[in-house]
Amino acid sequence: MAASDYEVLDERFARLPCMTANVHKLFDRCHWAEGPAYFPAGRYLVWSDAPNNRMLRFDEAGETVSVFRQPANNSNGNTVDRQGRLVTCEHGTRRVTRTEHDGAITVLADSFNGKRLNSPNDVVVKSDGSIWFTDPTYGIDSDYEGNKAQSEIGASNVYRIDAQSGEIRVVCDDFVKPNGLAFSPDESLLYVVDTGRTHGAQNPAHMRVFEVGENGTLSGGRVFADCTAGLFDGFRLDVDGRIWTSAADGVHVYDPDGTLIGKVRIPEVVANLCFGGPKRDRLFICATTGLYSVRLFVNGAKTF
Ligand code: MG
Repeated sequence: MAASDYEVLDERFARLPCMTANVHKLFDRCHWAEGPAYFPAGRYLVWSDAPNNRMLRFDEAGETVSVFRQPANNSNGNTVDRQGRLVTCEHGTRRVTRTEHDGAITVLADSFNGKRLNSPNDVVVKSDGSIWFTDPTYGIDSDYEGNKAQSEIGASNVYRIDAQSGEIRVVCDDFVKPNGLAFSPDESLLYVVDTGRTHGAQNPAHMRVFEVGENGTLSGGRVFADCTAGLFDGFRLDVDGRIWTSAADGVHVYDPDGTLIGKVRIPEVVANLCFGGPKRDRLFICATTGLYSVRLFVNGAKTF
């Protein structure tokens, strides 16, 4: 990594980047790149370009980009579940779906208490198979990345889908606009971003942390970090529990103690990222028009 590509704010960050590996831009024709998810079996990355209503695919072996799905129901956040299946948040259809191994689409959630969801934004799957997602209004606020509509639920909640029963319940209802979310490596903690600042200068631009109970309940919820450049959006954790998060000027890296220890500088606003490569030591970064990557001396937390 070239010196200009990163910023060491704390010595704990100094050995995380590979000093000879630059940030590479892999693709540059998105309107709003989001939702990266890496599939190790095929060595490819899928991500969303919501305003263009398409999902793209980067093949690591040949370093090529192709269209994965179009139209894509204005997809946003993606993840890979414990069986290696793609799980997708769709703004246009206001639902969370799973793409089965045979390509069939299963709807996991599209309503709560008989009311349509707003526009699921980001999603994570826990080791017990439960699926946790956020439901702010960005996909119904305008036609830009979905279809303009009134919220039926009238709130932006965090939800959990039970793995066995498929029951959907609210796990947290005090967010303005919940957004990215991820578990700590041991799944004892759940971090959730609030991007409420987009809907008022007095609203939060921060990340909160919850303790996860045995029965899938949350407690705590203190502010873990306030974003120092724009907004946090999507993020992932590494094997040691550090948080690698999107921000306006690049990727911000937090120690689990809450210290901002360094940045990977990216010349566009970053929306989301994930670890990939066979060893989960290549960081893929979705930033406005582009997909970027950088090799690291640290590995992403194993999530399936
Ligand atoms: Mg998001």
